[in-house]
Formats: sequence, structure tokens, C-alpha cells
Amino acid sequence: MTKNTHEFDLYQKLLDKYKDIVILNNIYSHIYWDLDTYMPEKGTEQRSEEFAMMSGLLHERITDSEVGSLLDQIKEHEKYQKLPAAEKRNIHLIKKEYDRETKVPKELVKAIAKQSAIGNEIWKKAKKESNYELFKPELIKIFDLIKKRAQYINPDLDPYDVLLDLGEPGITREKLDELFSELRDGLIPLIKAIRDSPNKPDYSLIQRDCPKDIQEKISQDAALAAKYDLTSGRIDETVHPFTTGFYDDVRITTNYTLDDFSSSFFAVLHEAGHALYEQNMLKEYKYQPVGFYCSDGFHESQSRFIENVIGRSKEFWEYYLPKLKEITGDIFADVDLEPFVLAINRVIPSKIRVEADPVTYSMHIIVRHEIEKDLFAGNISFDDLPKIWNEKMKEYLGVTIENDAEGLLQDVHWSGGGFGTFPGYAIGNIIDGQLLWKIEQDIPKWRDQVRKGNLSDVVDWLIKNVHQKGNLYDPLDLIKEITGEELSTKYYLDYLHRTFSKIYGLKES
Ligand code: ZN
Repeated sequence: MTKNTHEFDLYQKLLDKYKDIVILNNIYSHIYWDLDTYMPEKGTEQRSEEFAMMSGLLHERITDSEVGSLLDQIKEHEKYQKLPAAEKRNIHLIKKEYDRETKVPKELVKAIAKQSAIGNEIWKKAKKESNYELFKPELIKIFDLIKKRAQYINPDLDPYDVLLDLGEPGITREKLDELFSELRDGLIPLIKAIRDSPNKPDYSLIQRDCPKDIQEKISQDAALAAKYDLTSGRIDETVHPFTTGFYDDVRITTNYTLDDFSSSFFAVLHEAGHALYEQNMLKEYKYQPVGFYCSDGFHESQSRFIENVIGRSKEFWEYYLPKLKEITGDIFADVDLEPFVLAINRVIPSKIRVEADPVTYSMHIIVRHEIEKDLFAGNISFDDLPKIWNEKMKEYLGVTIENDAEGLLQDVHWSGGGFGTFPGYAIGNIIDGQLLWKIEQDIPKWRDQVRKGNLSDVVDWLIKNVHQKGNLYDPLDLIKEITGEELSTKYYLDYLHRTFSKIYGLKES
């Protein structure tokens, strides 16, 4: 018996079939990566055909009737009961995907892929021209397609709940409403206290001309400091940074702002956090459903842990500021640690989600969640979206949106049908608070280690407790498995209050 052959031959056959799906998925992500990095401007139409064909092929493989019959035979076989939990989980996950996708017509899947590529192009143009009216027809088309898909998957459930379950299995609108209202109630007083604090960040300590070649060096150095493995990765440039791939080919991208190195620096730490998750899954789970990440929220927790919990901490900069000075020559020579840490932890309600600080960030997600929920419930119309968007941003963040580019056109997600995916970002924050609470018990001296430039223990903890658990559990079960507690906002709110009270000299509430 070779290492890769399971003695239960039906199970092995199922895994072999699943491996093809994973490989097709990887090819899909390569052409997506290419679209965003090096594809010529005119390539859109051809690429949209490629996406449509790839998604059709994928759908065929996922819904292959042989998969269905293997699943039935395995469940009835006497060997099934004796399988270890991870193998049962593989079967469960393949069945869940099979049952879901067989309900969706292939034509619809292809139509979504095609419309995503077209919508993406129009969105880019609409954003450039700040013209929501240009984007609106495409938005309605993709929204209708996604809604249809959700109704095929489960006609008895609100489509928004169906979509939430895709990214965050087990998390419902109701649960989100509860978590988000706790977040909102905890964040508003903190945002206000920071605004009234006498400690004012001096952003000129960061906003300084820094040539691109030097920023590339810093980015690479930061990624390596975070334990990103460049022998199975690479860093390229795109408008919006992202991570793609898994195991031995995990690529990240960034975007350089010439008078603000921190933009790319934190983007790279963020994406490196995502990449670590993919690079450190258990090798024996490769090409199996359990060798995938747990949920969008867990993925985001890993990126934001590296970016914010570690990357914006005073301890990290005790180690990294001298290094930054070394790489950048005289650009930051006059900068002292305390004011620098205050500057990189600047809290300013911003119009743009991706530029938001850790304190106000979740408010952006709450706005998006409320709007998406209402769109799917049919409570609001696409004509009113800009108005509703702008009103909510004013109410929750106190910012005045001047045009659609800085308003509801700011993010790419909707153009590709990414509805119900935003909540994962805030769930990632909530998870981080809880992981940190556990890390502080398991590695009480982790901050001292970071101060000395040693990130190994804390990264290894994430690898062991999160990355290597792959998709063995649904998110609410995984957080309980790791921390022994139900998912709760209290740890994240506590972390924010502690950290920012110190930085801003507030009385801890
Ligand atoms: Zn992310």
C-alpha cells in the first residue's frame, strides 16, 4: 500500500475525484492572479470566456454523478463508521458541496463567472469616473444572478443567510446582528474617547517621500519577518492587494504609495498573514477538503493578527524601527518610538474601508452588512443606494461622502457578486481578540519575544492552533476548540480598549 492510497477504495476514489477539483480551482486562481497583475488591458473579453469555461468545468466535476454515487456507497459501507474524524469530515464537506452545487444549473454558474469579469471592468471605469449610474445595471445583473443561485441552493431560506453560510458556515443574520450590535456599542465610546484625547498622532512622521525600490525592500523584509516563505510565494503589484494560492504556491500583492510607506508595509503584513495560513496547512491534507481554510472570517483573523495585533504593536516597532531606519537611510532618522507608534495607530474615521484603522474598521462592515441585508430582503432599491450609503456613513462614522468613488463604489467585491462576504472581515477581528486572549495564557512572554524580533513562537502557535486545523471544524466550533469559549466580542473589545487606552493615554474603561 502506497502512502497515498487508502485501504477503503471507495473513499480513495472519492479523494481522487476531489483532487481534480482542487487542481482546477488552482488553475482558476492563477488566471485570476494574472488578470489582476500582468494581463494586457484588452484581454478582458477573452479572460471572461476563460473564467466561464473554467467555472463550467469545475461545476461539472463537483456535480459529477459518480461523486454522488460514491458518496452513497461510502455512507452505506461498513467501513464508513470506522473512519477517523478527519476522513469523515472530508466526506461531509464533499457531500455538502455536491448537494449544494447539484441544485445550481451549470448555465447559471457560467453566467455568474462571465458577468463577474464584465462587471469588474465596468466597475473599474465607474469608479474612475465616480459614476454609480454606469455601474448600476451591472450591479443589478450580478445581484439577480447571485440571488437566483442562493434560491436554488435553499429556496426556504433568506438568500442572504444562504450566502453567509457559504463564507461562514453556521453564522446567520441573527447571530451577526447580535455580534455587530455588541461591537457597535463597544466601539462608539472608544472612538469618542480617542477623538477627545490630548494625544494627537503626528502623521508627518510616516508620510514622507520613500522611493519605490526602497519600499519594495521594506515590503520583502516585512514579509520575511512575518515568516512568509518566498520560496513558495512571490510579491507583485496590483491596485488592491490580495493573496491567492495554497500550499506551495501562495502569492501576495501590494500597492505602493510613494509618500506613505506604511500603506504597502501593512498591506504586505496583512497579505503575508493570509499567505501563512495557506502555506502552513498540514501536508497530508493537501488536495483534500480538510486541507482548506476554515472560513473567510478565520482567514481574515490571520491576516489582521499579523497586520494589527503584531504589526502595529509597540513591541514590534521596538524591534523594527531601527531596521526601518537602516533600510531607508535618513528618511526616518529623526523619528522616536513613542510618537511613531502613536502615528501608526492613528484613529480617524475614514471614508475608505481599506484605509480604516483597527478601531473604526468594523463600523464599515456594519454599514455594508445592514445594506446587503436590506437589499436581499427587498427593503431598499438600487436607485437609492448612494443616498443610503452616504447617510449610514455619516451616522456611523461621521464622515461626509462627496462622491460615489469614495462611497459605495470603493470596493471591488460587489462587481464580482461578492455579497455576504464583508461580515467575514469583522468576524476576523472578533476572532483575533479571542485568539490573543488564549495566546496570552499559552505564551505569557510573547510580547517580550516580539520586542527582540522573535515572532516564531506566536506564529508557530497560529500554525498549530489555526492553520493546521485546516477545515476540520466549522468556524464557531473551531474557535471553541482552540479557546474553550464560544465566539464572543468581549475579547476583541477588551484588546482594543487596553491597547488604545495605553497609546492615547485614556483612563481604561
Ligand atoms: Zn484580508
